[in-house]
Amino acid sequence: MDICIFCKIIDKKIPAKIIHEDAEFLAFHDINPQAPVHVLIIPKKHIPSINDITTDDELITAGLYRLAQKLAKELKVDQSGYRLVINNGPAAGQAVAHVHLHLLGGRAMHWPPG
Ligand code: 5GP
Ligand code: ZN
Repeated sequence: MDICIFCKIIDKKIPAKIIHEDAEFLAFHDINPQAPVHVLIIPKKHIPSINDITTDDELITAGLYRLAQKLAKELKVDQSGYRLVINNGPAAGQAVAHVHLHLLGGRAMHWPPG
């Protein structure tokens, strides 16, 4: 089975601009940024999608948002505003089957999203 691209980034098999790493999480700049700030926050545990989250993963899901809060402050978008997005499944545009939280900021966001 192919190892997913985000697991390869976790394992340092492919490079990324990593801005945070701890035992449970990794955060790095998106390779194709959609805003001046576009960071991906991922659990090190390979979970393909939100559909696969279980009660065992509650610390992970909470931790993703807690880390987003910290990074938004460090990246100086906490006061101007930022958007946290999880695309789940094909119609939502999920391209990488490893749960990831997009942190987008540094510009005005539109609603509804495309
Ligand atoms: P999704 O569409 O699954 O919600 O988001 C996947 C995101 O991963 C996209 O924004 C895409 O630009 C980003 N991405 C895909 N491959 C890589 C990569 O190899 N490195 C980095 N830094 N980002 C990637
Ligand atoms: Zn993975």
